[in-house]
Amino acid sequence: MRTNPELPLTPAPGLLLVLSAPSGAGKTTLARRLEKEFPRAQFSISYTTREPRGVERNGVDYHFVGPKTFLQMVNRGDFIEWAEVHDNYYGTSRGIVDTAFETRGIAVFDIDVKGGLAIKSKFPDAVLVFVLPPSMEELERRLRGRGTDKDETIHRRLLAARTEIEKGLERYDYLIINDALDRAYEELKSVVIAEQARRGRVDLSGLQLQRAEIAEDSDR
Ligand code: ADP
Ligand code: 5GP
Repeated sequence: MRTNPELPLTPAPGLLLVLSAPSGAGKTTLARRLEKEFPRAQFSISYTTREPRGVERNGVDYHFVGPKTFLQMVNRGDFIEWAEVHDNYYGTSRGIVDTAFETRGIAVFDIDVKGGLAIKSKFPDAVLVFVLPPSMEELERRLRGRGTDKDETIHRRLLAARTEIEKGLERYDYLIINDALDRAYEELKSVVIAEQARRGRVDLSGLQLQRAEIAEDSDR
């Protein structure tokens, strides 16, 4: 229920879809699949000060920048939200939101819970989806299996996972347990399809309702 009378009653035309999860739960895998199947989905490429990992490419997985450039961007107001996560800075640029609204597109954000809540407070119609691992043991297996992080980093990410899960369970709109990838993906896809059918997000221009209103006026 909306408690703030200032907020609009129908969602903005585009869909802002936030995917969060403890690191290693599989949100990037799910998001990439979504992007392939929904041509209108655009993946938000965050800026980060962390080093590229494994096969990550600049401008594809992240925009990798130094701390000086990042802080200049903060001061210029280039980010709709930014945060320090695991000793590095991460930020979401605002351009993708404008594009989603202008084109009735889907902007997909792969960001942490704090970032997701910041987006929701600026754009209350944003849809927050939290991806959970089936167990903490499986989360550790996936982090190790990815083969991209050092032992110390994995340990730190596992400690952070519990807090992230608690916050996600409390505040997010949808929860998806990523046990079998195909099933979890079907659930995510169902959320997107349902959210696109919400009043305000459906393109009604073909019905030419405005023209009908004019005709009704001239009959009077
Ligand atoms: P995140 O973006 O949440 O950090 P990733 O998408 O990088 O996680 O996934 C972490 C690892 O787990 C990757 O090696 C990925 O291939 C694997 N993975 C993702 N989903 C599943 C799943 N349902 N079952 C088994 N492994 C998975
Ligand atoms: P990783 O280093 O594993 O790619 O990401 C670490 C964490 O930072 C993940 O929880 C990821 O979702 C989050 N993250 C990535 N980009 C952003 C961003 O732009 N803003 C915020 N707040 N978090 C981000």
